[in-house]
Amino acid sequence: MPQHILIVGGGVGGTIVANLLARSLHHQEAEITLIDSTGKHVYMPGWLYLPFNHLGAESDQLVRPEHSLLNNRVHLVTGDVYKIDIQNRELYVHQSRGLDEIVGTGGASEAIYPYDYLVLATGARLVPSDLPGLAEGEGKWHHFYSAEGSLQLRQALETFAGGRIVITVGGIPYRCPPAPLEFTFLLDEWLRKRGLRDRTEIHYLYPLPRVFPIESVAAVATPLLEERDVKYTIFFNTEAVDTERKLVSSLEGEEIAYDLLVLVPPHRGAKVIEDSGLGDAQGWLPTDRATLEVKGMPHVYALGDATDLPVSKSGSAAHFEAKVLAARLGALVHGEELKGEEGLYDGEVMCFLETGQNKATQLVFNYENPPHPPRPSLYYHMEKQLFNRAYWHIVPQGLV
Ligand SMILES: Cc1cc2nc3c(=O)[nH]c(=O)nc-3n(C[C@H](O)[C@H](O)[C@H](O)COP(=O)(O)OP(=O)(O)OC[C@H]3O[C@@H](n4cnc5c(N)ncnc54)[C@H](O)[C@@H]3O)c2cc1C
Repeated sequence: MPQHILIVGGGVGGTIVANLLARSLHHQEAEITLIDSTGKHVYMPGWLYLPFNHLGAESDQLVRPEHSLLNNRVHLVTGDVYKIDIQNRELYVHQSRGLDEIVGTGGASEAIYPYDYLVLATGARLVPSDLPGLAEGEGKWHHFYSAEGSLQLRQALETFAGGRIVITVGGIPYRCPPAPLEFTFLLDEWLRKRGLRDRTEIHYLYPLPRVFPIESVAAVATPLLEERDVKYTIFFNTEAVDTERKLVSSLEGEEIAYDLLVLVPPHRGAKVIEDSGLGDAQGWLPTDRATLEVKGMPHVYALGDATDLPVSKSGSAAHFEAKVLAARLGALVHGEELKGEEGLYDGEVMCFLETGQNKATQLVFNYENPPHPPRPSLYYHMEKQLFNRAYWHIVPQGLV
């Protein structure tokens, strides 16, 4: 009898696991099903560039149908998993956009999917209501953490004539820790090109005792902020936003006025994780840092942004985790022993940090070894640009 492997989430993590398993397991050994609420695969790193009209990309070029990226051995279900029953090894799914609906013969349906192995790759979600003032002030502050948000920010920048731009985060953790710094550097460059830099103060606020969580990265970024005349305040834990008075205030008791606010919204794990009582207080899955097994839940694995692992919430981490998880699940289905480090995640992450002016640096690290970012250069900027374009052809397929 084939084993049923269910994967929830068609982001970078879930898609790579599905494709690698489809290539390594015969259909008599395993049936692989991926369930995703939207049926669309989004390349979020592209959102960073949309406000500046870079990348030559519009938001619709950063999305592809999930089915176009999957090995044809993977059965795709477009639907929302609304309950995960760990005791009975079942998922409850509201199939709102099933094949029926696509061909126009049917509508929503409910289904129960049993599993032998479950992979939770449900990512993170934005919860503005977690920070007082954000939900009430909708449309009066900005972010680049969704395609719509980035395009609205682009419009706000187009009409910006000078003043103070404040950049901050609404809480930790959030996806892609370098993104607010990258945005700051790209904004500085953009304002200089538009002749607006002399009339604009950029103020970067960060909750930690430095401008980036990892010390070696902060050591590279801080002098760059100073060189570019970007003001920064550390130990600024955003507590509330007043969009009427245009003030952002911190737990530490500071109030900072802005003309334009760019704030990374608070993040949480997927709603179904919270609703099924599987996550911690923020909805992150308690995950074994090496095996990726969800703690206390046999046969359930997690990867990517959905986990509580002490690595950045990044596509890169999800990518490396997907490879070890596919090796682990493949061995389990084959009844084979894993050897040495095989099937164990060591915290590997590799990502770029754009520093503006056509330069970037690269962050390579794992649980044990912090990054040693090289001096920002055109070389890493070009590598990042190349990656942005090559992504669709190599990453979801698990070819790198
Ligand atoms: C502006 C920005 C820039 C970034 N830049 C970088 C970068 O340069 N490098 C980098 O490595 N990372 C970057 N990231 C982070 C990266 O995009 C994410 O960390 C990555 O996409 C996480 O992948 P994932 O598979 O864990 O989750 P996701 O890609 O979020 O996928 C989760 C999937 O689960 C589905 N889902 C959720 N709940 C359910 C449910 N109940 N039922 C069915 N399906 C469900 C969702 O529809 C979604 O498709 C950036 C992110 C942002 C926002």
